[in-house]
Amino acid sequence: MQTSRPNLSQAPKYIFVTGGVLSGIGKGIVTASIAKLLDLYGIQVTCIKIDPYINVDAGTMNPFAHGEVFVTDDGGETDMDIGTYERFLNKNLSKEHNITTGQIYLDVIQAERHGDFLGECVQIIPNITDRIKEKIRDVAVKQKGIVLVECGGTVGDIESLPFIESVRQMRLEEGQNNTLFVHVTLAPILDPVGEEKTKPTQHSVQELRRIGLQPDIIVVRSKQKITDASKRKISLFTSVELNSIISNPDCDSIYNVPENLYNDGIIFPIIEKLRLSTREMNWKDWKTVTKSLGNNRKIINIGMIGKYVALSDSYVSVNQALIHAAAYQNHMVNVEWVDSSVFEDDEKSLLKLKKYDGLIVPGGFGERGAEGIILAANYARESKKPFLGLCFGFQLSLIAFARHVCGIKDANSIELEPKTKNPIINILPSQKRIDSKGGSMRLGGHNIEVKNNTKAFEIYKTNMIRQRHRHRYEFNKKYQSVFEEKKLTLSGFSDNGKRTEIMELASHPFYIATQYHPEFLSRPGKPEPIYYHFIKTAIEQKNNK
Ligand code: GLN
Repeated sequence: MQTSRPNLSQAPKYIFVTGGVLSGIGKGIVTASIAKLLDLYGIQVTCIKIDPYINVDAGTMNPFAHGEVFVTDDGGETDMDIGTYERFLNKNLSKEHNITTGQIYLDVIQAERHGDFLGECVQIIPNITDRIKEKIRDVAVKQKGIVLVECGGTVGDIESLPFIESVRQMRLEEGQNNTLFVHVTLAPILDPVGEEKTKPTQHSVQELRRIGLQPDIIVVRSKQKITDASKRKISLFTSVELNSIISNPDCDSIYNVPENLYNDGIIFPIIEKLRLSTREMNWKDWKTVTKSLGNNRKIINIGMIGKYVALSDSYVSVNQALIHAAAYQNHMVNVEWVDSSVFEDDEKSLLKLKKYDGLIVPGGFGERGAEGIILAANYARESKKPFLGLCFGFQLSLIAFARHVCGIKDANSIELEPKTKNPIINILPSQKRIDSKGGSMRLGGHNIEVKNNTKAFEIYKTNMIRQRHRHRYEFNKKYQSVFEEKKLTLSGFSDNGKRTEIMELASHPFYIATQYHPEFLSRPGKPEPIYYHFIKTAIEQKNNK
């Protein structure tokens, strides 16, 4: 007879990752790296990111302040760490893998209005914490194996308290052998003393213990490998065993972090505390990736054109896709941000773009800098510079072509000029009646039909691809024949031919733009084909100079 009691050996296990001292010390990379090590052990593994902000998702936040909005195949607008997990694990994640305070409160308040708690006083403990645990377990049940849960923010933040409290409760409920706490901290070096300081780590662990968590492992980020003396000091003051204090020094590539953590012994306390059976690790493919990212590579210079200077985190996936594509071809990419507004004031300054081996226009919104981007897209066409346009970049390069080649001088996008007489870029029909901004764009994966006898077909070698989207506007098909007469090829379509997805110029070495975001699919060792060919052409042109 079957019993309804869960088989504990099958129960999911959890690794909770918290951060201390400072934000931005690479907690996401540590989480992804631990997940990668377990993956190399052949263990089923996934990651969840908890974000303590009240936004329901990252879609309504400014990427210039908070980093890129990463789009999942199921249309989630998520935190950029989800992109890091996908790239490290070479796996698609769904939007359930990004939990925010906003989602939790929305669910609980809606349930309260519905009457689900009639008679009860609805409180942070247990109602909010129960919902948090439920959402984590929902992912774990589907996943089995090990779930890493990265708690965003820094320990001590008021807003992350309900999450930390849920984590504390989960240890009680899931048991010691099924939960592990990893705390990521920083050991700064204060010049001129040159000695790493462990005090911030000690204080951050004290704060963690005050709210009920005793870490099992401490990962210490620092400039160089921390000394044994520092490890002993941290161990003594935090009651964490010496072999569980792991050094995580700065390194050339984020993809080296799994190996660095492994070399410092992180896997032993994980195996021991979670009672995992040891087995062979399969490093082969991952070592090929890290080797391809070594330092002895030639440089390829890419100019990324957009409005005002962006944080490098605002376009992480684009940067990563370029890194993957270049590494695959034994090159190192140097990406420089070019502020397009300078071209608006002085067209001659377009010549500044000459020094780049390739130009890229990433996604974006709004009119600021757009005219400058249109000029740059036209420069790339005329000068035969390899050019890749992404989403907004696709739309603006079509406007550039309309104005400069088709003679439609006032061609524009409804987004930039709502009353334009020539809306080359029009609002998507599904967007016309939308007045609430959250999660309402055309989002996520859509199948795209790639036309035969096109560059896109040469690149993808198939007629059907699936790519991720995030937009409200699109190419206006009324203008299709005008463009085609001037030898611009529209080579990819979705939604039964209704949406235009790819444009290309047959007469140019590489001038391709996509309505979708190919960067979300790029993985180390598996560059996205458009990026691969863009970099390939840039390298070829550079070598032929
Ligand atoms: N602003 C454009 C649109 O909404 C492009 C969006 C983007 O680049 N992600 O369609």
